[in-house]
Amino acid sequence: MAGDEDFSEIRAAVAALCATFPAPYWRQLDRERAYPSAFVTAMTRAGFLSALIPTEYGGSGLGLSAACAILREVHKSGCNAGACHAQMYTMGTILKHGSVAQKEKWLPAIASGALRLQAFGVTEPTSGSETLAIRTNAVRDGDHYAVNGQKIWTSRAEYSDLMVLLARTTPSADIKSKGDGLSVFVLDMRDAEGLTIKPIRTMMNHATTEVFFENVRVPAENLIGEEGKGFRYILDGMNAERTLIASECLGDAEWFIAKAVAYANERKVFGGPIGANQGIQFPIARAYAQLRAAALTVDAASCSFDAGRSIGEDANIAKLLASEAAWAAAEACVQTHGGFAFAEEFDIERKFRETRLYQVAPVSTNLILTYLAQNVLRMPRSY
Ligand SMILES: Cc1cc2nc3c(=O)[nH]c(=O)nc-3n(C[C@H](O)[C@H](O)[C@H](O)COP(=O)(O)OP(=O)(O)OC[C@H]3O[C@@H](n4cnc5c(N)ncnc54)[C@H](O)[C@@H]3O)c2cc1C
Repeated sequence: MAGDEDFSEIRAAVAALCATFPAPYWRQLDRERAYPSAFVTAMTRAGFLSALIPTEYGGSGLGLSAACAILREVHKSGCNAGACHAQMYTMGTILKHGSVAQKEKWLPAIASGALRLQAFGVTEPTSGSETLAIRTNAVRDGDHYAVNGQKIWTSRAEYSDLMVLLARTTPSADIKSKGDGLSVFVLDMRDAEGLTIKPIRTMMNHATTEVFFENVRVPAENLIGEEGKGFRYILDGMNAERTLIASECLGDAEWFIAKAVAYANERKVFGGPIGANQGIQFPIARAYAQLRAAALTVDAASCSFDAGRSIGEDANIAKLLASEAAWAAAEACVQTHGGFAFAEEFDIERKFRETRLYQVAPVSTNLILTYLAQNVLRMPRSY
């Protein structure tokens, strides 16, 4: 449940769509490391990916709680929203910090799916979690910026028309106030000369890439907000992203728990169901308790966001606890299934690989803990 609403109609519609993309569809894609185009198209046409875009720009005008319900249901159904969830929230930076002209130019086309804004270029190979140390730079040159540098783990770049790009516009040595010096641009990748995208093959089917920029020209009118303030702009979006990903973790946990319970009740060894053994029951029951607790934190974060409150603490806690609940459920599901957990046709090993990501991306567990320790509890800084 999210706040006072349980979004039952939306969830039922999502579940019905997901039922048309059963496990063999995902299994085949996983084997081939292929992009789930049919699923993404269906999600787009159904309007689920435009949930957060206001109605005046052609979206559904729903809140983050509703968007969380959509993604949770996708994952509970055994599907994976990783190929398209960014279409939901990456536009948040334009919505919140863009000019009227920028919103009118991009948001309706993103809402209809005519423009795919699926790529969010922040992480770089050298700076890693230290976003303020990024080196990709954008230098003003008349009515354009020239961008040079490299991003890594830019997911879905091959399946996106636009990228929200964070780049350095002031050299580190000249920065007066911590957090300044970075700017956000909307890069149109369809006609960008000097842009090279290289796929990275990963342990799960996730269309992620390295992106190289060699004098890529971005019109100055594509700068979002004020030059140098980009880091602050993307933080808002990152909190929404963390909450949405946390809701995907809840869905994963529900999928693993349902699968584990069904098998524990049905599988008979030593003359009875393995589920009668507390060694099998307890990890599943514990994961369920973790799921319920994490769901409360996701609701708290999404409701606060919808009420216009700042959600840094809530979003980080939700992401931490939900990713751990999903992992506990995944572990319990594997252990319950014994050898069969490793067979591809049971889908557990695939979901197990998929859900592991969430303790690392979009922010790693340690970085959440440092945020809570240092920014919330006011303990000494480690960096
Ligand atoms: C599949 C995938 C998709 C991704 N998609 C995107 C995307 O679309 N766009 C994007 O910009 N990025 C994306 N990322 C990047 C992701 O956000 C980063 O991988 C993540 O934030 C961790 O950064 P890093 O990999 O550089 O790890 P590092 O920063 O090198 O950290 C490595 C380890 O050290 C720990 N660590 C680092 N500093 C500290 C500290 N001070 N205290 C304690 N522990 C510390 C980290 O927690 C981590 O466990 C993606 C990553 C993956 C794997």
